[in-house]
Amino acid sequence: MMSRVPGRPWPTGTTRPVVLLGWPGRYSISPQIHNAAFREQGLDLVYLVAPTPPEAIGAVVETLGTIGAVGANVTVPHKQAVVPLCDTLTPEAERIGAVNTLSWTADGLLGDNTDAVGLANALGADIAPAPGEHYLLFGAGGAARAAAVAVGRLGGKLTVVARRVSAAQQVAQLGARSGAGPVEVIAADEISTLVRATADARIVINATPLGMNGESLPAPLMALVPGQVAYDLIYDPPATPFLEAAHRRGVDNHHGLGMLVAQAAASYRRWTGQQAPAGVMSAAATAVLTERRGRH
Ligand code: NAP
Repeated sequence: MMSRVPGRPWPTGTTRPVVLLGWPGRYSISPQIHNAAFREQGLDLVYLVAPTPPEAIGAVVETLGTIGAVGANVTVPHKQAVVPLCDTLTPEAERIGAVNTLSWTADGLLGDNTDAVGLANALGADIAPAPGEHYLLFGAGGAARAAAVAVGRLGGKLTVVARRVSAAQQVAQLGARSGAGPVEVIAADEISTLVRATADARIVINATPLGMNGESLPAPLMALVPGQVAYDLIYDPPATPFLEAAHRRGVDNHHGLGMLVAQAAASYRRWTGQQAPAGVMSAAATAVLTERRGRH
């Protein structure tokens, strides 16, 4: 049903859409990632960005079902707003309390969340962490929630650092419910406590936007030592001050493209029932980011 005839022009009148629901931007590289994979596997699907203002999200989701969309990714600011629109949630979406992947199925609209499995898979591929590793997670937003579940899945010890302690506590509790332990919470301005926790951590994850525009992280996180791992969820730019400082100090460092591609691969599997061509997706993502950097 989803296959197209090899060598024929595409898309055609039978091509079905998968869309990205976000607001405001069109800046995502998900279309390049998914369309490269659809092309590689000869699927009669096309991935488009649908900039959707918050007040329109309900109507747009309903319309997509009506016109035969296969699926959607959901990003800022809609990840929680789409939860009540779903007929069914996967246990993962239920646990995280947010949806990043919608699928229109025979049983109605299914909401899933592939961010945590994406990060757990990327961490596994990048650093192969052992159970019991200590993760220090900076941030308490949506990406941090997914990261806390990933740390739980990997059986890690978790310290959540954020400027709002109440939000950090919620992230830590989610981590604990997902299998992380022990968990602790530190306010970002408690510098002496942060120095102690950072020194004990093996993997430090930045789950804030700090670094997208050249910002540094709190000083203790900028002073990691060899043997530790700096893991930034930001992928554009690929070299944030946090990762550059780690690199200068001889510290293993990774940007967020691995997570982006791994969560995309998990969404792709939901929509198509097929194993995603991860190498093709990764090459498409790298090509578009390289091309963008060449332009700026
Ligand atoms: P979010 O829900 O808006 O959360 C952002 C978090 O960063 C909040 O905890 C916020 O604290 C904190 N923060 C922002 N500015 C800060 C500052 N100046 N000092 C301290 N904390 C600050 O955003 P998100 O969706 O979690 O995304 C976070 C980052 O992860 C973004 O850069 C995004 O690009 C990246 N990301 C990457 C992937 C991937 O696949 N690689 C996936 C998702 C997200 P407050 O709550 O106090 O404001």
